[in-house]
Order: sequence, then structure tokens, then C-alpha cells
Amino acid sequence: MSWLGIKPLFFSVLCIGSLLAHASNPIIVPEVASGFSAIKSANYSKAMAVTANPHASRAAVKILRQGGSAVDAAIAAQLVLGLVEPQSSGIGGGAFMLHWQARSGELVVWDGRETAPASVSEAYYINTDGQPMDFFSAVIGGHSVGVPGVLAMLEASHKEHGKLPWANLFKPAIILAEQGFAISERLHILLSRMPRVAVNPQIREYFFHRSETGWQPKTEGSVLQNLAYAQTLRRLAALGVTDFYQGELAKQIVQAVNNDPNRPGRLSLPDMKAYQPKKREALCGQFRIYRICGVPPPSSGGTTVLAILGLLEAYESRYGEHADWHHSFIEASKLAFADRNAYVGDPAFVSVPTQGMIDRDYLHQRAMLIRNNSVLSNVNAGLPPGAEPRLSSNSPEFPSTTHLSIVDAEGNVVSMTSSIETAFGSRIMIGGFLLNNQLTDFSFMPRTADGMPVANRVQSGKRPRSSMSPTIVFKDGRALLVIGSPGGTRIINYVAGSLYRILAKQLPLAEAIADGHIIAMGYGVELESGRVDESTLIRLRERGHNIVLRDQTSGLHVIRIDEKAGLEGGADPRREGEISGF
Ligand code: GLU
Repeated sequence: MSWLGIKPLFFSVLCIGSLLAHASNPIIVPEVASGFSAIKSANYSKAMAVTANPHASRAAVKILRQGGSAVDAAIAAQLVLGLVEPQSSGIGGGAFMLHWQARSGELVVWDGRETAPASVSEAYYINTDGQPMDFFSAVIGGHSVGVPGVLAMLEASHKEHGKLPWANLFKPAIILAEQGFAISERLHILLSRMPRVAVNPQIREYFFHRSETGWQPKTEGSVLQNLAYAQTLRRLAALGVTDFYQGELAKQIVQAVNNDPNRPGRLSLPDMKAYQPKKREALCGQFRIYRICGVPPPSSGGTTVLAILGLLEAYESRYGEHADWHHSFIEASKLAFADRNAYVGDPAFVSVPTQGMIDRDYLHQRAMLIRNNSVLSNVNAGLPPGAEPRLSSNSPEFPSTTHLSIVDAEGNVVSMTSSIETAFGSRIMIGGFLLNNQLTDFSFMPRTADGMPVANRVQSGKRPRSSMSPTIVFKDGRALLVIGSPGGTRIINYVAGSLYRILAKQLPLAEAIADGHIIAMGYGVELESGRVDESTLIRLRERGHNIVLRDQTSGLHVIRIDEKAGLEGGADPRREGEISGF
């Protein structure tokens, strides 16, 4: 493994204490950051897994070495991540997986997004006074839990793309859960800093210990065994996921959600039984000489990443080398987010002008709104081809989540982003795993002031809008780049910005993902603390951009595939990811 140096301008190993996110943005306050390591980069010749945790990357590579497929490795990694990075993803959550089969050239999206219970209505998150609930009151408890989709999705994709037996993929996680693993720095920090983690006895007893001053998070390095999780995994390995959706585990989940002392939910056994993962067509668009493919609605990731890049390309064709990359990225992002906020919801419930939102002519027209020396304010959604007019709506997303990039020895690719939504999800733990709070990704307000229905309002059986953006880039028909990130709504900017840096600016892979992020979701601009030079700040402020500096918590995990040079991996220095391979 080679550890690259980093340009002094960008290099900062920040102390943890200074990494608390500023609450300067009233709409979204991210999970705390947990440090910045040296740039992580590595090269292997045959197969590679880049995930958020060394145990998970190594489990994936173990499976790859046994002849497992990229999907097999993703399953093993996900089961380990649910143990060692439990705050971010797990079998109690949902995911989107983009899969490319090298031999056939088949590209598919597996949608394992959670669904709302049948009994909910659009006023689900409205208090009796007509006002939306406070975000964390809505998050904590059974009220926020959607039917988890990860397992059903993994099983369905394994049936099509798996090579090793299902039960074998559970072994690394079962062994680690029984032997125990050391609590990582990041897990410890999140246990200390996220609001109200220990509200339920199962969580308290697992992650905390009693001290003279009350319950304290177990220290970094303490060994945590999770026998309940090992037992759950043994059942799933032997019985398949039917047990989770229709058997004993389904009963335990429903009982825990509906009797949660914090805020009970309304999940039923028929809701669990009805869950179906969906196989969807990937959403692809052209950027320069590359074909960029992502996931369609109910995630807003694919449309918005592609729209940002399309707008940038259109704008740059007008201004050429005089375009200021920070300025044009900010303006393109504002325009793309306005459309995202207005139009994207679950396509089974609302009509989403998916192709219209990334249409080249439409983006060329939209890009005409960008000015070289002034700043767009109060950006409204456009009217993409095929769209019915809609007003914007927002829903807060608090980053937890994880991204896995995997290439197997046959060149098959998995790009998968997986989430239980907020760090530690709904704070409900059963069977050794945490249940998601993904329903809070719906818009809390179902109607606009003049009564128009909001695309992402709560509806029974619907999937909440996501920002997850697992992506694969192709050149000349071959997979070239695998990328994705956690980070709530900011995922879109993390992924679009990194793609631009890698493909257009041609920065080295690991440097590109370490570069300071630019976030522009329509209400001010965030640049990354310690990772932007003073002259850029001055220049942008002089143009009229309203900028705040804050820490960012991307977890970009990237693989570049080169027919001759092999595989090059990059793991985000902002998290604990590892690149493994052979
Ligand atoms: N719930 C978010 C989504 O589905 C992801 C949250 C995160 O990245 O932390 O887009």
C-alpha cells in the first residue's frame, strides 16, 4: 500500500475538539466529523474493496479471494459494517446498489430503500398545532422506522449475481461478532456526541458502561462482542431473509417499533411481508467523453449529480477557461437542487420528469441563468421536459450512511450506498442491530402554502426520497470509475465535485477526494474548514456568495479501473475507510 503525501496547503490533522460541526445552517446540521488522516491510496492488480472500515474491506477481500463475486463481497462487507460501523448502516436499514456485469455489459440498479407502513398518512409528521415536528423528536422512536430493505435487496441480487453460497457470506461477520472488535475512534466520538443515543436499554447496555457519573460511552479500543447479532446472522444464514420479513425477526421488529417508549410507530406484519426490493434501470448521462451512471428516483442522487455536471459543462462551453470552477459549481448546484427539491419523490406515487431533468438541451437553457460576475439568488425550479409545475420542498437529512466500492477478479463492479439515516437511526436496537429512521427523509410538510401536494410527502407504502448517489463512470463501454459517499443531502455535492475533480481537472484520485468540498444546496454556500485558500474565499465573497466554513463528513470510496495499470483505490481521509485487495 502506498501512502501519498499531501500538499501543505490542504494538509491539516485537526484535533477532534475543533471538529464539531457549526450549527450555522438551520436546515441541516451534520453528524460530527471525527478527524482527517493522511491521504489514503492503494493499487492492486486483480480485485479490490474500499469500504468505511478495515474489518469490512478485509471481509470483502476474503470473499473475493475465495472466488466470490462483487455482490458476494458486498454482502459480507455489509454484514460486517452493521457490526463495526453500526451507527451508519446495517440490516435494519436500506440501500441502493449499482451493479455492472463485465461479461454481459448489463448494468442494473437494486433499490433496497425502506417503505412507509400502510397505516401512515401525509400528516404523519405534523403536530396537532399544524406545525411540523421537531426533527429529533421525529427521529427517535418507532415513528421513524420504515420497512428495512437491505436484506431483501442483497438476497435478490445474490440470486442473480452471487457465486458463493449465501451462508458462507455470513461467516466473517459472525466470527467477528462472537470474538468482539475494538470500538473505533469514530464510533466512540459519535456515541459521545450524537443526541440521545442511549434512550433504550438495549443500546445503553451494549455501547455504554455505568460509571459514578452515570452511563458513559465505552472507550475507544474497548472490545465489543455482539452475541445477539451473531445469533441473528446465524438465523439469516440458515433460514434466508424470509425469517426477517415473515418469521420470528419480523415479529420482534414490529413489536419493538410499535411499543417503543419514546414514540411508538405503526408498523405491521403485513408491511414487513409486503416488502419487495426493486430492480431499476440505471440513470445515465454524458459528461465530456464519459458516460456517468447513477441511481434513479426515489433517490435524487442520479438526477442531481448528472444535472450539476451537465450544467457545468454547458456553462463552461460559454466561458471556457475563464470560468471560475468554484463559482460555476456553486451556481450549477443551486439550479440542480431547485429541480431536485421540486420534482423528486417515489416514482410509484408521483410523476418525476427523470429524463427531462438531465436533458442536455434543457440543461443548456438552464445554464444560461448562470452569470460570470453575479450570483443567483432565490433559485426556482425550472420546467424540465415532461414536468408538471411544482414548488420546492425540503426534508432534512442528517448524515450517517456508508459507501462500498468493489471490483471482483472478473471485473464485475458494485457501487453501493447503504444507510440507517441518522447516526444510530431510530435508536431502537433488536437482535443486535439498529433500526433505521429513514421515514424522516420524507418532507414533513405535505402541502405548500397554497395547498399543492409536495412530491416527497408521506404516503402509505411509499419510499422516501434519498440523496444516495452510488455511481459508475464508463469510457468506451468499459467501467472506469466506481464512486459514492455518505453525507445526507451533501452526498450529491461530494460525488459531483469529486467526479469533476477526477474527470475534468484530472487530479490524482486520492487527492481529488481529499480536496475541500463545495456545498451549495440553495441557501448559502459551505466551504470546508481548513481546506480552502484565503484568496478563493475573498474572490467568492467579493462576487456575492454567502459562505460559511464548516467541517464535512464525506466518506468517498473510489476505485479507478485501468485495463493495463490495474486497480487504484482511494478512501476518504475524513473517515476510517480502508482499501484492500490483491
Ligand atoms: N438518508 C439519507 C439518504 O437516503 C442518507 C443519510 C446519510 O447519508 O447520512 O439520502
